[in-house]
Amino acid sequence: MHKPHDATVALREGIFDYARKRLEYDPAPLDAPQTLEFLLEAAGPTVTENGLGGLETLSLFEQVLAPATISTDHPGYLSFIPCAPTEAAKLFDLIVSASAIYGGSWMEGAGAVYAENQVLEWLAREAGLPEGAGGVFVQGGTLGNLSALVAARHKAAQARQARGLARPERWKFICSAEAHSSLKAAAAVMDVDLIKAAVDENGRLRGQAVEAAISSAGDGLFAVVATGGTTNFGIVDDLDEVGQAAKSHSLWFHVDGAYGIAGMLAPISKPLFLGLDRADSFIVDPHKWLFAPFDACALLYRNPEDGRQAHTQHGEYLDTLTESGDWNPSDYAYNLTRRPRGLPLWFSLATHGIKAYRDAVQQNVELARKIADEIELRQGFSLVRQPELSVVVFERDGWNIDDYNRWSDRLLQDGIAFVVPSSHKGRPNTRFAIVNPETSFELLCEILDSMDAK
Ligand SMILES: *Cc1c(COP(=O)(O)O)cnc(C)c1O
Repeated sequence: MHKPHDATVALREGIFDYARKRLEYDPAPLDAPQTLEFLLEAAGPTVTENGLGGLETLSLFEQVLAPATISTDHPGYLSFIPCAPTEAAKLFDLIVSASAIYGGSWMEGAGAVYAENQVLEWLAREAGLPEGAGGVFVQGGTLGNLSALVAARHKAAQARQARGLARPERWKFICSAEAHSSLKAAAAVMDVDLIKAAVDENGRLRGQAVEAAISSAGDGLFAVVATGGTTNFGIVDDLDEVGQAAKSHSLWFHVDGAYGIAGMLAPISKPLFLGLDRADSFIVDPHKWLFAPFDACALLYRNPEDGRQAHTQHGEYLDTLTESGDWNPSDYAYNLTRRPRGLPLWFSLATHGIKAYRDAVQQNVELARKIADEIELRQGFSLVRQPELSVVVFERDGWNIDDYNRWSDRLLQDGIAFVVPSSHKGRPNTRFAIVNPETSFELLCEILDSMDAK
């Protein structure tokens, strides 16, 4: 047998040692970004004609680059939406990388595709979609939303053609004014119009507003998008009403739940997702609130054939795959070559069981409600709105944006937490996005305490 080179053996040990060290941190150092000037000075050029050598490059990463990179799984990382994978998911991600598995086709990746599909079927079941629902793990919610909308338009175009109608002047879809920026991006890429329906006083899209938007939209409408947990506040639109409105006009109903749909797993937040079973498609990002590593978005179709019709790529060298009748994940989104990025979640889910996931989501929602109560009790703090899922937005009375920025920088430099300013209706605030089971009430109180001084 081919005997590995000594340097390869040493590098393998070095990599495993470093990976073990990362995994054994409790918690991992929060770390903080550095300037380009600093990194040029400290790391210098790294891509060279003859190479630096494996252990030397690893050491450079460990000593210089890793400390300049924030650990999104630190319990004090509470900005944007953090990523807090289970240990099982992280470990299995190593195996995915070590295995060079192709996740695009059944022919090449049957075992991996089987495992990914088990997870997708489970998510569809939790959402109440009928038997036969399915989809694919894509890179992120942005790509998931785009792929669903492309499928929706494709279906609408086919229906029009079948009825002998000409193309509309402009294709259009409806979403709420609170919808994620990726929908605007999708509309731009697709060159379609985005119609923003009004939200109610709680920031929620309701059926009536959708009806109004539909009746004034004119020709070319192909979909209605609801948000299952806005990124900023965790607001869940009235999925039942919005879905009903969309379907009564034969429009595709898509639910963007990149962050929030994980909330359907816990008894405490499940009622918010009533009506999700009406969806023609939905997305949820395991890298947000399903405790899996970057980067993965589960895209689900009620009728996967709609996705396949819209997305299958044809080419001479691909025909042997596309004409096989097998389930090929690549056919269900705007992608071709793909990593089986659903496997880390699959392994962790298979290891721990579904209940562990319900419990973890429930715990995050309960913690969000508990710290919201604490904020309401504290002098000098105001809750911007009651949390529904696990995002808590609040103000420190009298602070301007500079006060928030100074405090936020200090918190990061001290290695305590990463909590950045945000804003609502022109007023600065800050928010805790809680998706990490290691985030404790005590840590959140310590962060609030740190706001006693500007
Ligand atoms: C994060 C998010 C997205 C975008 O997902 P990415 O994985 O970042 O591309 C879309 N919609 C909502 C509601 C989100 O929270």
